[in-house]
Amino acid sequence: MTLWILGDQLNHAAMQQLSPRRVLLVEAYELGRTPPMHPQKLVLFFSAMRHFAQELRASGREVIYLQAETLAEALGQFFQAHPGATLAQMQPADYGFAERVGAIVEGLGGIYRLLPNRLWLLQPEEFDRWAGNRKTYRLEYFYRFMRQRTGYLMQGGQPVGGAWNYDAENRKAPPPGYQPPAPRRFAPDAITLAVVETVREKFRGHFGSLEGFEWPVTRQQGLEALEDFVQHRLVAFGPYQDALVEQSWSLHHSLLSPALNLGLLHPAEVVERALSEYEKGSIPLASIEGFVRQIIGWREYIYHVYRREMPGLLEANQLQASRPLPPLFWGAPTRMRCMSTVIERARQRGYAHHIERLMLLANFALLYGIEPQALNAWFVAAFVDSADWVMAPNVLGMGLFASPILSSKPYAASGKYIARMGNHCQHCAFKVVETLGEQACPFNSLYWDFMARHRALLEGNPRLGVLYKTWDRRNPKEQAAIRQQAKELRQCIAQGEL
Ligand code: FAD
Repeated sequence: MTLWILGDQLNHAAMQQLSPRRVLLVEAYELGRTPPMHPQKLVLFFSAMRHFAQELRASGREVIYLQAETLAEALGQFFQAHPGATLAQMQPADYGFAERVGAIVEGLGGIYRLLPNRLWLLQPEEFDRWAGNRKTYRLEYFYRFMRQRTGYLMQGGQPVGGAWNYDAENRKAPPPGYQPPAPRRFAPDAITLAVVETVREKFRGHFGSLEGFEWPVTRQQGLEALEDFVQHRLVAFGPYQDALVEQSWSLHHSLLSPALNLGLLHPAEVVERALSEYEKGSIPLASIEGFVRQIIGWREYIYHVYRREMPGLLEANQLQASRPLPPLFWGAPTRMRCMSTVIERARQRGYAHHIERLMLLANFALLYGIEPQALNAWFVAAFVDSADWVMAPNVLGMGLFASPILSSKPYAASGKYIARMGNHCQHCAFKVVETLGEQACPFNSLYWDFMARHRALLEGNPRLGVLYKTWDRRNPKEQAAIRQQAKELRQCIAQGEL
């Protein structure tokens, strides 16, 4: 029996389930081309795979490492050398992947066997039992279920501190000039440098910089990144988790999604290490709770919603948004300081933190009306931690409200929110307090126009009633001027002139 370890399963979880005779890893370049992935994502993926193969060999395992343009080509080579072999694999996270490769394997005369994917905290049947026949999902209930199931931050059946979440304490903007501790980064070694050359040669014209790669590519480096976060940055993770600041790309975020998504770190060990630091007494409850919620709540919930709702989720478009991506997403200059800063961050490192993704990038796309699948493909192209399972629910469900299954209302915000959460607006060419006129922040008129355009769908939501009352208090002339301004802005944005 051969165990085929995928690039996002770089972990011993499968080997603990069966004793394979040999291990197969496949570097298939087609997977990085459609859609075209960020060059640093490709380096991360292939370098982590090559390091993992090296570690397995060093521990005495037989490893077959194949490099090919397509998966079918690589599997063809494998079965030529091992006719009739059984290939076992942990359940792939991405929708349709198992069916696709299973058909190739069987077509080549092999046997394809799936194992449970132990890289999740919750197995599919447990989530399905919790979800029952729900048509929509709400994170808060799932999160409470997970706290009870794992026992994390629980005491006598109740949440530690008496509350399930401390969101109200976790919406602070840092003081002016605040500099968080710099995160631990990793200089590329010889293996990574060789991958950089492969990527330079094979993948031309992808969005993003190939220079400056510093992501963890081994389990050891993942553990060091975890240690650095827990010791130096977890303490203020809570209060600043929603902040939008210009002077720091990482703030107090963990930067662990690449290592988690590759399987280098297991979510349980990440949470347990953070909890052990909290137990020493120096981490506020609001910070540890906020972090635990991201991992045992959001991360698991997003995966299982994806698993249950595909392929419909990827096709969803309840707002019928149809605009193509405007040039600013590909780095064309824009005077919107928040957008240019965050898109440049994605170009440089393939990273932006959650609120930058949700309340700047996706919010802008929502208000402007970008077609959901186009934005999804952009997110795949722009981030090192991208994966199908995490993109579709976050981009289409949370970001674009293309489907109602994840939230009851869109995450739409005007410039006021961006100004409140940080300092991008302070030196921006646009004025955040203005809605009309050449200098007005584009988020403002786009926001009101969006709300007016989708009134029929949104007005019934009790949380939006006040907003429509505010809109109705404006006189009709002003309303028309705002909508006209939004229309003109959309034309400028489409032409790359804003
Ligand atoms: P932290 O802020 O330190 O959070 C800790 C961990 O919690 C993350 O590493 C991640 O594993 C998990 N987490 C938190 N929120 C989410 C969430 N909504 N969904 C899944 N996991 C979550 N995450 C990805 O891993 N890959 C993506 O391609 C991706 N695309 C996104 C696109 C949009 C539009 C949005 C709104 C969110 C996206 N996310 C994605 C979720 C989240 O933004 C990232 O996981 C997070 O920013 C990664 O940075 P971090 O490790 O510093 O996270």
